[in-house]
Amino acid sequence: MSAETAPRRSRIGIMGGTFDPIHNGHLVAASEAQEQFELDEVIFVPTGKPWMKSTVTAGEHRYLMTVIATAANPGFNVSRVDLEREGATYTIDTLRDMRKAYPDADLFFITGADAMTQIMEWKDVSEVWDLAHFIAVSRPGHPLTISGLPTQGVSSLEVPALAISSTDCRTRVSQGSPVWYLVPDGVVQYIAKHHLYRSMP
Ligand code: NAP
Repeated sequence: MSAETAPRRSRIGIMGGTFDPIHNGHLVAASEAQEQFELDEVIFVPTGKPWMKSTVTAGEHRYLMTVIATAANPGFNVSRVDLEREGATYTIDTLRDMRKAYPDADLFFITGADAMTQIMEWKDVSEVWDLAHFIAVSRPGHPLTISGLPTQGVSSLEVPALAISSTDCRTRVSQGSPVWYLVPDGVVQYIAKHHLYRSMP
């Protein structure tokens, strides 16, 4: 088959994060990545037991908030692969599972630039570059600065809406301050219904 007639490989974004809770900055970042990298779909993957974190909200709450936040966008979906795997969540395992599910797609792993600063210490880091292209999203003025990254394998994307952070949302709820417009309306209501973040962080 000539290059002209070969079907275009699908391009799938994998948005990895703890999402405790998911907020509008995450959604804008996924939308920006989708547009700039011509992604057919962005799959949000809430972590199971995040590496190096002792306390996070139950995975089922984080999963359901992510489903609520993304439900209206036909280009966004949510995966349970990290929640259903035993043990700590490592990106190499996320990517191996997604590669099995999408053997013919080009994969793009999207996450916060801060999270990626530790990437050279991630499990099986040499293999992750073969499985996906990495998109490090950051707020303006905080670019990705890591030495030793393969330049072909990593792109940076500035997203002003990432001034919103999950930590700030949790702090606001614990202080009785509103999080309307920082997180989607359904997530505001889910947090209230399940009394999340009352005594956090
Ligand atoms: P984190 O340390 O909680 O987050 C660090 C920073 O990145 C925070 O400012 C966070 O903001 C931001 N961030 C995290 N995910 C983001 C996203 N998808 N989009 C935009 N900003 C994001 O990071 P984490 O949530 O635990 O981990 C992020 C991803 O990296 C997960 O998929 C995790 O499994 C992976 N990871 C893998 C390894 C490993 O394989 N060893 C190690 C670390 C992380 P918010 O708090 O506002 O989200």
